[in-house]
Amino acid sequence: MEFASDELTKQVGQTARQFAAQHIKPHVMEWDETQTFPHELFKQLGQLGMMGVVVPEEYGGSGLSYIEYVTIISEIAAVCGSIGLSLAAHNSLCTGHILAFGSEQQKKKYLPRLASGEALGAWGLTEANTGSDAGNMRCTAVKDGDHWMISGTKNWITHGISGDIAVVVARTGEPRTKNNATAFVVERGTKGFSGGKKENKLGMRASETAEMIFDHCRIPDSQRLGDEGDGFHQALAVLDGGRISIAALSLGIAKGALAAALQYSKERHQFDQPISNFQGISFKLADMATEIAAAELLTMQAADRKSKHLPVTREAAMAKYYASEVAVRVATDAVQIFGGYGYTKDFPVEKFYRDSKLCTIGEGTSEIQKIVIAREVLKG
Ligand SMILES: Cc1cc2nc3c(=O)[nH]c(=O)nc-3n(C[C@H](O)[C@H](O)[C@H](O)COP(=O)(O)OP(=O)(O)OC[C@H]3O[C@@H](n4cnc5c(N)ncnc54)[C@H](O)[C@@H]3O)c2cc1C
Repeated sequence: MEFASDELTKQVGQTARQFAAQHIKPHVMEWDETQTFPHELFKQLGQLGMMGVVVPEEYGGSGLSYIEYVTIISEIAAVCGSIGLSLAAHNSLCTGHILAFGSEQQKKKYLPRLASGEALGAWGLTEANTGSDAGNMRCTAVKDGDHWMISGTKNWITHGISGDIAVVVARTGEPRTKNNATAFVVERGTKGFSGGKKENKLGMRASETAEMIFDHCRIPDSQRLGDEGDGFHQALAVLDGGRISIAALSLGIAKGALAAALQYSKERHQFDQPISNFQGISFKLADMATEIAAAELLTMQAADRKSKHLPVTREAAMAKYYASEVAVRVATDAVQIFGGYGYTKDFPVEKFYRDSKLCTIGEGTSEIQKIVIAREVLKG
């Protein structure tokens, strides 16, 4: 599908596609089966400018738009969802938060390291008892002179163990009150900050998901991002951008699954003809292609608005909700088209099938997206 996008977007997409084919594809199943997080790969992605895609050049980034960013995530995810997820979490959550809400000093200190791939980012909002209801968090930051003491555990954090620079949103006010959370940057190696249990997951197994533990972790006030009490508001804004990247992740997975199913349907013969001759199969392919095209339009619309600094809450939620559900449907149908072979690890569709499910959960479940969309729609 072609948009008003220029040569640059095409080139960036091609670079990501070539990198994925050369450096990711040969290892996909090994990393998946052993739950290996290929940390070094992200340094290579940094050298290609993919670890700070929308970070302005003055902070060491590539200075590209959200259109190029979603193109990169989608191309990588068409080969491996896990790497797409990690790249998205690094770019739009940790790096995106510092870019949007960091002081000039914080941006100068952290963005060049993140954008070059020298440092890997993590972003901690979710806790064991508070996922969708993130405002009810228990992890606290208590003021201690010109320092803060953070205590509590963040769960399900992408790069919870390997992340070098973490943004954490902690409660700084009374539970269930307004403006009761604040965001901080915490560097790996800070006393009292450690990684915890790594999750053993259904899919996205090469993307590290783990606890981040803060045990009386004392950090200076200069590590605070923006105003005290503004953390939850900041997190919601960061998630608007993040959700567009999960839509792109979904799109990549769906495209990868369709490409595999399309090829197989032409090669596999039953009843002396390719199975693509059967309407039961070709209509599935038609539905898959149509839904992917619709998901791509929603994703690009949201990315375009984000690039133009227009309000994007509604468009990001729509793109994330629709594209993620499409990824699950397309990956499920791809397995069906492969028949018994689709149920084995010899073909890529079983992994797309497992990876796709995360897209309807991470950065707000489909139900939460519908709440956001309904609220926006009812506003008129
Ligand atoms: C692989 C992976 C990576 C992740 N990475 C990160 C990360 O880097 N940083 C981070 O902070 N978090 C991360 N998360 C956490 C993720 O954002 C949460 O899992 C997600 O927001 C859902 O929260 P929960 O798991 O607590 O589910 P819950 O909130 O407990 O939801 C359970 C079910 O209840 C439904 N539900 C909840 N509330 C409502 C409601 N009001 N109306 C209707 N239905 C509702 C949900 O839709 C869901 O179906 C990650 C998760 C995974 C699996």
